[in-house]
Amino acid sequence: MAGNTNGGLWKRYLEFNVLYKILIGLILGVIVGLAVGPSIAVIQPIGSIFVRLLKMVVMPVVFFSLVVGASSIAPARLGKVGVKIIGYYLVTSAFAVAIGLAMGNIFHPGQGLHLAGTAGKTLSAKAPSLISVVLNIIPKNPFGSLATGKVLPVIFFSIVLGIALSYLKDSDNGKISKSAEVVINVFDGLANAVYKVVGGIMQYAPFGVFALVAVVFGKQGAKAAGPLAIVVLAVYLGLFIQIFLVYGGFLKMFKLSIFKFLSHAKEAMLTAFVTRSSGATLPVTMRVAEENMGAPMGVFSFTLPLGATINMDGTALYQGVCALFVAFAVGMHLTLVQQLVIILTAVLASIGTAGVPGAGAIMLLMVLNSIGLPVKAGTPVALAYAMIFGIDAILDMGRTMVNVTGDLTGTVIVSKSEGELDESKWK
Ligand code: ASP
Repeated sequence: MAGNTNGGLWKRYLEFNVLYKILIGLILGVIVGLAVGPSIAVIQPIGSIFVRLLKMVVMPVVFFSLVVGASSIAPARLGKVGVKIIGYYLVTSAFAVAIGLAMGNIFHPGQGLHLAGTAGKTLSAKAPSLISVVLNIIPKNPFGSLATGKVLPVIFFSIVLGIALSYLKDSDNGKISKSAEVVINVFDGLANAVYKVVGGIMQYAPFGVFALVAVVFGKQGAKAAGPLAIVVLAVYLGLFIQIFLVYGGFLKMFKLSIFKFLSHAKEAMLTAFVTRSSGATLPVTMRVAEENMGAPMGVFSFTLPLGATINMDGTALYQGVCALFVAFAVGMHLTLVQQLVIILTAVLASIGTAGVPGAGAIMLLMVLNSIGLPVKAGTPVALAYAMIFGIDAILDMGRTMVNVTGDLTGTVIVSKSEGELDESKWK
């Protein structure tokens, strides 16, 4: 009988809307985390299981979908999609830093802290040179890149392989064209199988979400209430503006509703919020683009992995706010030129930011350097940096959510501009 009850419970659990389950996990996580405090960290493994499960499917989903995607679209069109999406990614990232700076100028976070100290050792992050970035896109060994989770070289190889298959598919030699079709179908089957796995992982998500959120709030919740509350407020308000004004505006230009978009995107947004990793969220983002938004595989299989690697609007915005926080905290007034320098470096820094938790805070060092505020141990700048670093997880949640939202917006817009968005899903 007990078995029966369990079976019934499990069935009811499965039938209950996955998003509500995740939201309940999230809210309970905040409450329990704040109530228990730092010792809640013992439940971290429950969250790690969720993140590991997602990471398990990242490379398969990118590889399988992109091969099918690239084989389904003419190379010239793929080039057009590439130009459009990269243009969109750059423009929206620049908007994001500008909004971050505006928030900083309005809220003056860090003002009045009057931090003081002495000079010491410098912490820094350097942008890799352009040449090495470009060269590294071409994998020396694609299997090595797949095995080590390097997304850009895998994108490159999958596109090349997909294009080759699309040529072979049209070959006059019947045997070759048939085998190319079989290979494409196999990849298609594998991609769908992985999406199915992602669906299964989402059933575990509520537990993982509960643990991940409880640990963050247990460790950092209280700190975020003090003098840093204004930074949190400025960053989150900026992120809100980025979503509704920038993404909402772009969607409107393409006659799509932001509210419909958000209701389609929420599963990916929530996953990004709690995992704090665009990379780990990628399987969910791709599933959402295909199943909820009706984007074609030829577009999203390329734009989303690319976006998860180079398009970090939330991170760029956060860097804008935090650069001002540090400047105000040490009593430095930033000129207009310096703020323009921040826009430029923050866009570059966000491109160089890996889609993993906390990466944006490291790239912030580069932005601070560019305006003559190097983080040297024992200096006021280092102290100010350490303060925001202390609540980084809370800022990281919001910025990662926006990072992923930006990728999805671009994907939808480019799909629509190519006349390939399945608009029956937007009614
Ligand atoms: N965690 C962010 C992401 O994965 C990157 C960052 O730290 O800003 O998108």
